[in-house]
Amino acid sequence: VIYADTALHITFAPLVLYNAWVKQLNLSMQGASMSSDVRVRFAPSPTGKLHIGGARTAIYNWAFARANGGTFILRIDDTDPTRSTDENTQIILRAMRWLGLDWDEGPEVGGEHGPYAQTERLDLYRAAAQKLWDEVRAYPCFCTPEKLAEDRAAAQARKDPFQGYQRTCRNIDPAEARARIDAGEPYVLRIKVPEDRGDVVIHDAVHGEVTFNARELDDFVIFRSDGTPTYNFATVVDDAMMGITHVIRGDDHLSNTPRQVMVYEALGAPVPTFAHISMILGADGKKLSKRHGATSVEEYRDQGYLSDAFVNYLALLGWSLDGETTIVPRDVLASKFSLDHVSKNPATFDPKKLDWIQAEYIRTMTDKEFADKIMVPELHEAGMIEGNLEYDEAWIDALAAIAKPRTKFPADVVTVASPIFATAETLEYDEKSVAKGLAKEGMGTILNEAEAALADVEWTPAAIDAALEPLPEKLDLKKRIVFQAVRVAICGNLVSPPLSDTMALIGREDC
Ligand code: GLU
Repeated sequence: VIYADTALHITFAPLVLYNAWVKQLNLSMQGASMSSDVRVRFAPSPTGKLHIGGARTAIYNWAFARANGGTFILRIDDTDPTRSTDENTQIILRAMRWLGLDWDEGPEVGGEHGPYAQTERLDLYRAAAQKLWDEVRAYPCFCTPEKLAEDRAAAQARKDPFQGYQRTCRNIDPAEARARIDAGEPYVLRIKVPEDRGDVVIHDAVHGEVTFNARELDDFVIFRSDGTPTYNFATVVDDAMMGITHVIRGDDHLSNTPRQVMVYEALGAPVPTFAHISMILGADGKKLSKRHGATSVEEYRDQGYLSDAFVNYLALLGWSLDGETTIVPRDVLASKFSLDHVSKNPATFDPKKLDWIQAEYIRTMTDKEFADKIMVPELHEAGMIEGNLEYDEAWIDALAAIAKPRTKFPADVVTVASPIFATAETLEYDEKSVAKGLAKEGMGTILNEAEAALADVEWTPAAIDAALEPLPEKLDLKKRIVFQAVRVAICGNLVSPPLSDTMALIGREDC
């Protein structure tokens, strides 16, 4: 327990920041209108990796900012010290970069409203809490956990519909409270929900009007006895000071919203527009979790999903462009996203649809794009091409033309390309293919004839085709038998891409 004099003791520079904010807020609320620029934030807690649900929330915030010419802020909500780690923060930042969700303010990029990690903003929360305390909009509460449990049990016993905090300490005389604090008694700070507040009505951009009874809110804790702020308080101080205009987040936070509205009102800050987006369910109708397979963004990246395809798919989990379009490229999302096309119904995660979208992104790339974005990086990674020098552009294009239709995931490129990069010495022969197509009576003749037929031809797919074409008739063998033998001999398997294209890429010597 941290005692009174340290809990809310304010000494640091952020207090100056906080006071400046209050002053600015008062000025802007007095006369001139608040800036109408859209400012949104994604505020992950680094208690784990970035998951599908969080990624979708990030995408909606990013797209909403971009579509409205607004500002997208990334804030790290790391006030839970037991579960937040720097490593998770780094994982989240990496995932955001991979997703291509560039933020305008936040970690690594800075901004005027920083710092952008809650642990670095504690003095601002203290300043805000102190202000509410000074204005008697918040008060210290000395109830022990045992006392609170007793009160709850008593409320249950008398069937009181309200079983929250009984406002025991609300009317303690300030001088008495000060004396108890000075004597070292632990306390929390609670917000005073005004008696006459009436219903709290939220105009949610997704759910419409949602009404909460203010009496049910009780006077909740804004600062714990250890001197740390609660989520509902810290978040509102941040959102208010950062000038957030739209809070777009998961609907698991809808029930927190009336409490947060109480904090905005107590601070005298304008309440932003809320948009609570639905849950994501697995195929079985249960909330998406590990049981349904990969849930973190990293896992999808490592499996070879393209960032563009993945973002496109996640965007459709609860939002649609026009009710039917499935391929919504990033730039369309960034210009057309709107909250009124967000559904309040839960979305179902469908891996097949994700795969279909991935295939579409690959299919619609030009060979050149495919080579630049997928093939060459993949071949580099596999150590197949050290520099680009050895392979000229035409060769790369020709490889892309046969690899693209055979690629569902980037790693497929390596499978397609490995016979092509193999030399006569390193080529691996697939046993089954050899048994089926090559290790048979008379196959040597086919290979000798093929070698002779190819001896002087120009090394292009067309010339290779033309040279091999007459062989079946000449040898009086089925076409399939002849081509299988040549294919297995040169590629090591029966499933390689079109033979003459592959041979042209392998080169005359190695063939
Ligand atoms: N850190 C909170 C979370 O990850 C943010 C909630 C909010 O957006 O207000 O759930």
